[in-house]
Amino acid sequence: MVASVSVGVGSLVWVEDADEAWIDGEVVAVNGEDIKVLSTSGKTVVVKSSNVYPKDAEAPPCGVDDMTKLAYLHEPGALHNLKSRYDINEIYTYTGNILIAVNPFQKLPHLYDSHMMAQYKGAGFGELSPHPFAVADAAYRLMMNEGISQSILVSGESGAGKTESTKLLMRYLAYMGGRSATEGRTVEQKVLESNPVLEAFGNAKTVRNNNSSRFGKFVELQFDQRGRISGAAIRTYLLERSRVCQVSDPERNYHCFYMLCAAPPEDIKKFKLGNPRTFHYLNQSNCYELDGLDESREYIETKKAMDTVGISSEEQDAIFRVIAAILHLGNIEFTKGKEIDSSMPKDETSWFHLRTAAELFMCDVKALEDALCKRVIVTRDETITKCLDPEAAAGSRDALAKIVYSRLFDWLVDKINSSIGQDPNSKCLIGVLDIYGFESFKTNSFEQFCINLTNEKLQQHFNQHVFKMEQEEYTKEEINWSYIEFIDNQDVLDLIEKKPGGIIALLDEACMFPRSTHETFAQKLYQTFKNHKRFSKPKLARSDFTLAHYAGDVTYQTELFLDKNKDYVIAEHQALLCSSKCSFASGLFPPSTEESSKQSKFSSIGSRFKQQLQSLLETLSATEPHYIRCVKPNNLLKPAIFENHNVLQQLRCGGVMEAIRISCAGYPTKKPFYEFVDRFGILSPEVLAGSTDEVTVCKRLLEKVGLEGYQIGKTKVFLRAGQLAELDARRTEV
Ligand code: ATP
Ligand code: MG
Repeated sequence: MVASVSVGVGSLVWVEDADEAWIDGEVVAVNGEDIKVLSTSGKTVVVKSSNVYPKDAEAPPCGVDDMTKLAYLHEPGALHNLKSRYDINEIYTYTGNILIAVNPFQKLPHLYDSHMMAQYKGAGFGELSPHPFAVADAAYRLMMNEGISQSILVSGESGAGKTESTKLLMRYLAYMGGRSATEGRTVEQKVLESNPVLEAFGNAKTVRNNNSSRFGKFVELQFDQRGRISGAAIRTYLLERSRVCQVSDPERNYHCFYMLCAAPPEDIKKFKLGNPRTFHYLNQSNCYELDGLDESREYIETKKAMDTVGISSEEQDAIFRVIAAILHLGNIEFTKGKEIDSSMPKDETSWFHLRTAAELFMCDVKALEDALCKRVIVTRDETITKCLDPEAAAGSRDALAKIVYSRLFDWLVDKINSSIGQDPNSKCLIGVLDIYGFESFKTNSFEQFCINLTNEKLQQHFNQHVFKMEQEEYTKEEINWSYIEFIDNQDVLDLIEKKPGGIIALLDEACMFPRSTHETFAQKLYQTFKNHKRFSKPKLARSDFTLAHYAGDVTYQTELFLDKNKDYVIAEHQALLCSSKCSFASGLFPPSTEESSKQSKFSSIGSRFKQQLQSLLETLSATEPHYIRCVKPNNLLKPAIFENHNVLQQLRCGGVMEAIRISCAGYPTKKPFYEFVDRFGILSPEVLAGSTDEVTVCKRLLEKVGLEGYQIGKTKVFLRAGQLAELDARRTEV
């Protein structure tokens, strides 16, 4: 990052440390390349000079609100700055115009009240403390003044605070662009209330976050000429389906299931519900309650929000009826039937749940049983009915639950969109993106693969933007600047997305070929990419592969890739629900037309997702982007704990370090002339005496001290990496 500098005895420095990532101390001896440092905590360490970074003795103890104001812009300096601020509950810090938000894991209500919104309204960016309101305000004003659409991209790992930040942004934008009433409800009220509805059906407690969004979301706010919100569109990405029928301790299923089980008695009776512990889809985990959350209140609140966004009470009834049906469906167990390899509901309890599920889906019981336990195979000459064994029937049941839930979720999004309404005349938009951050776990499957693809694409967009901004500053200051290298990840993107021949294309091919298995798919990958520098086959692995992502290596397990990529509805399930007497349920499964059924013989989740991302990036590239990087300071989800290694890793993944690196590769130090003279005049007091023109003084001063490679801009001095440190070192010698 920053070129190491020559340090002498007495210099304050940062050195790497296994536990703390970086520790500070004072150089006590220099022996060639070996530097002996006595740390503040009392440790003595000997390190190579190339691993020593200068520490700014004059850095304010409470940190600075913008990393670019740091005298030394390097990893330990950036980390220390964030930590010093976090310790005093200053959770927001800029790096240029990127906002870093460190999750406080405690309520800080004074930070977000309406008084605060009023303060940020119209304040210049950087005038007040860093804040999401400031970012939203900057976006709003740029949109109004320049007529350019804006976007705010919020990223970070699970639990880092993306959704909370997104809600703050939306609240501020609704405050700025409020009050355009349609049908009694204002557009912005509907937009804000879409959050609790989508959270009820798309969020769940996970190990990483008690309220984890299991889908990605892009909200596009449309504004009229006067800057009032005139419409909005919500796009969602990849809802996690498997959670509906598979939950592991200590996680939970989607919130809506627990709320419904805590509904008022009349609803409980109507839907034949009871304790969540009695439902298979909920009791695979031992977690039912969330601290401080009253499910019965959540149920009422969710319904209220549904009212606001325009979901009628009949529709709400149908939605919760279908949710209840899914719970009953999950309780149907199967046993061997009379014929070989056939199956039937296991016992009277299973029959009861089968009947109840059919009743709630408003379909025929026998038809439901057949849809779960049988498959009809149509060949050229005849139609054969094949029975499923108990295991296959359970698989069929789960597939039905997942497809119904995901269709229901999509219905909600469509409904909210049509209720809010679009403004076809709007020329200006502000898009807010709340999407999953980079993931690397012990086992990584198709979901991580798609999530990491998203992050690769956003990272490319980010780098290009940061690079461009940097370039613009140099142009503005009229200094010469030659192109610097920055890590371009186009090669990873090609590896994944290229058509034909990329990983997604090969996966689709495998899915279409009936005899493929995950092993043949993996073999194909190994053969195709054996010389690709971003692809590798882990030693001893038989079907895993490793990708070198910008944020680190991730090894993927291919076992479920083929299954998870196939996006189809089992024909029997389609027919069953299409014939439901409940118009809501049948509406989720519209009959397929001749044309579309031919086309949809095979549809791939990976390819569709790739297209969605493509379209998202097209939208984004027509906007002026703003970035918020959320950071999770610890994995305990507790306040006041700041884990250095953990935070550093996130700063790297979020591109904050790369942004700093890009900046360092050019002229990381940009000091206004007067500041420069103020700080370094002491090095050559005689140059101060002669002239009053600060530019001339600066030039003479720089000549005098013999630096090379610096540049003089219109308002600032531009120094290369390490030069500021060198000047500081000389200053201490004076
Ligand atoms: P996921 O990817 O799992 O959806 P996320 O990044 O959206 O995660 P959030 O749900 O926004 O994470 O935040 C997780 C939790 O952290 C919140 O439920 C809240 O308790 C706390 N939190 C986040 N931001 C703030 C904040 N600004 N003030 C107080 N608490 C916060
Ligand atoms: Mg979230």
